[in-house]
Amino acid sequence: LSDRDGKIWLDGQLIDWRDAKVHVLTHTLHYGCGAFEGLRAYATADGPAIFRLQEHTERLFNSAKILRMKIPFTPEQVNAAQCEVVRANGLASGYLRPLTWIGSEKLGVSPKGNRVHLMVAAWAWGAYLGEEGLRRGIRVKTSSYTRHHVNITMTQAKAVSNYTNSILANMEATDDGYDEALLLDASGFVSEGAGENLFIVKGGQIYTPDLSAGALNGITRNTVFHIARDLGLEVVQKRITRDEVYIADEAFFTGTAAEITPIRELDRIEIGCGSRGPITERIQSAFFDIVSGRNPDYAHWLTAV
Ligand code: PMP
Repeated sequence: LSDRDGKIWLDGQLIDWRDAKVHVLTHTLHYGCGAFEGLRAYATADGPAIFRLQEHTERLFNSAKILRMKIPFTPEQVNAAQCEVVRANGLASGYLRPLTWIGSEKLGVSPKGNRVHLMVAAWAWGAYLGEEGLRRGIRVKTSSYTRHHVNITMTQAKAVSNYTNSILANMEATDDGYDEALLLDASGFVSEGAGENLFIVKGGQIYTPDLSAGALNGITRNTVFHIARDLGLEVVQKRITRDEVYIADEAFFTGTAAEITPIRELDRIEIGCGSRGPITERIQSAFFDIVSGRNPDYAHWLTAV
């Protein structure tokens, strides 16, 4: 990904893609304190538009606050940088990655005295869990790794270091032939996927783990709350056990990268009809209408670049 043409926004300037480098003594590279976001720009009739830009930027600043980092830019500058990056790379649609990290002035656990940096990159990226996954559903395995407890690395921060847990869980699941992992919290209740929030459908009602299970407060998760309300469906946030997922009528993952991905199997147990369920399909279809600018009620969630 580093050797290609294009532009990356780094600390206030658009620079050539290949020149966007950091030093090997970068604090975050050693100790993992940093925060990032993932956004998508979708092709709309009026050109590329970034989905829920303000909310993602707000979460980035909240993540930095939780991690005691001060981003040296305003949210408005970060929003503008993201539009600039999509434009500069001539993308009709794509994935955006803002990242804030601690510099290389000094090492030692305390980051004090180091500069805080910010970059934004964007590139074309299709369905995270595959086009077929979006249509047919994916196969998931309950992870042997526990999701972070809420008082360890701070689960409401989209912190760089939280992702070692996600990487381990995802690698274990994919090495075993599954598409993605489902992590349980320290008490054994369902938390989230390695990079996705979980929803189940049972008896026409939708359920998702409440955030005390250590799941990230996903922006797609919140989007589903709105879609469900529009469809006259209720979403209940509660503690969920893995066997409730086994006997659910439908299950799906949500995330900026994963979008709305149906889950057809957990631990080799077929969920519902074993493919994309009807409520999942309605939510997915409403989601793609919104992100593509086909639902005027949600035009305010789209920022034209
Ligand atoms: N949980 C984790 C661990 C994630 O990495 C993501 C992706 N950002 C999500 C949930 C979904 O969040 P969002 O819908 O905001 O992308």
